[in-house]
Amino acid sequence: MFIGIDDTDSREKYCTTYLATLIYDELKNNGYLLNIPKLIRFNPMVKYKTRGNGGVALQILNAEKGDEEFIKNVVINYVEKYSDLSSPNTNPGIVFLSSENYKKNSEILKNYYKKVLYDIVDINYAERILKKIKGEYIKIKLGRGIIGALGAISSNPPYTYELIAYRKREMWGKKRIIDEESVIKMDKETFPYTYDNYDYENKKVLITPNTKCPVLYGIRGIDIKYLIDAYFLVKGEKPERFMIFKTNHGTDVHLRHFKIKDIYPNTGVIVYGKIIKEPTNLEGGHVIFRLSDSTGEIDCIAYEPTKGFRDIIRKLIAGDYIAVYGTVREKPLTINIEKIKILKLEKKFILDKTCPFCGGTLKAKGKKTGYKCRKCKKIIKEPKKIEIKRDINPGFYEVPGTARRHLSKPIQLIDLLSDKNV
Ligand code: ATP
Repeated sequence: MFIGIDDTDSREKYCTTYLATLIYDELKNNGYLLNIPKLIRFNPMVKYKTRGNGGVALQILNAEKGDEEFIKNVVINYVEKYSDLSSPNTNPGIVFLSSENYKKNSEILKNYYKKVLYDIVDINYAERILKKIKGEYIKIKLGRGIIGALGAISSNPPYTYELIAYRKREMWGKKRIIDEESVIKMDKETFPYTYDNYDYENKKVLITPNTKCPVLYGIRGIDIKYLIDAYFLVKGEKPERFMIFKTNHGTDVHLRHFKIKDIYPNTGVIVYGKIIKEPTNLEGGHVIFRLSDSTGEIDCIAYEPTKGFRDIIRKLIAGDYIAVYGTVREKPLTINIEKIKILKLEKKFILDKTCPFCGGTLKAKGKKTGYKCRKCKKIIKEPKKIEIKRDINPGFYEVPGTARRHLSKPIQLIDLLSDKNV
């Protein structure tokens, strides 16, 4: 039996993963055997999201006929108790799906997962699919959470993992005390199997959230063994409990290859193209350039929070051939860059301003007249061009951990994930 839950918390209160952990423990204490719970993220462009647009799913492996009533009661009671129903933006949804209907409808579920990753889905669409696959669902208030609840059940590989440690109740809302040095040590000792623990560029611990929720910290990685090692390396406030979730974090599953003419708003894209307008600075510290392929042109932006990544972008020039990974903003239609891959660098030239006759310095006289030597006064129509070395190399470049979306694959995982196929 599968259980999906979403949209229970607010920025002020609770966390859907904590709720899933409580239900997991309660069912386990009642003799049920459960698969590792899932924490699945969906299209990051969804505007209703509280934080990272994620839903959770549990799978009971030994539910027998007649157990459903008990299980549903446990789930509903916990969801009612641990949802912030006073928040206007919290609209919980619960989905129950039998193992039989899960198996029978694997193709429909596969397509639904893609839909919630790539597009903005209507609640009626989720209800239609649920009816088709004979899923039971409960909508609380608007019940928008059924979209993500079914999305979490429908997910399929690749997966990574997150170990989430929760705070003792009396600590909720208080400042989190986590020893920064211990996080750096943990990061170094578990590299490359855990990621986004510490932002070395901005000197910032990344595992702790800033909200009042019950989460103390979350450690992400691709190997459970390393996550447990990491748990014991982090020092500071003692957690009340922890849970390891299977997730789609760091997998890039929200991105698809697109030709520019086919790009539409609020989806994730990978676009190969040539830079046709050199990067320039926008007000607010953002950096923009224009990309072109055989079908069209589009602007790509590295926003201010991507910090040092913008310096990489500023090094690009017209003619560079790159792939841009990111999500598409509607107005104006632009790509919000998550990472780039430089495939081919254009040669960069500067004018040789040394006079070929006397070695003096050339001075520009205007477009038509060319250059004049300050010393011998000779006019040189077209001075020689000298190729200069580019101060950037082909390869991947990414935003820092502080600015990374949950779903974005960090460069450190690119080879590891394809090897492991987790
Ligand atoms: P929470 O921890 O409460 O789940 P969150 O940041 O994940 O916080 P939600 O409060 O769940 O955000 O809000 C996101 C809402 O968007 C949920 O109701 C979810 O069902 C819905 N949703 C998820 N994916 C999509 C999608 N692709 N299209 C439209 N709605 C979606």
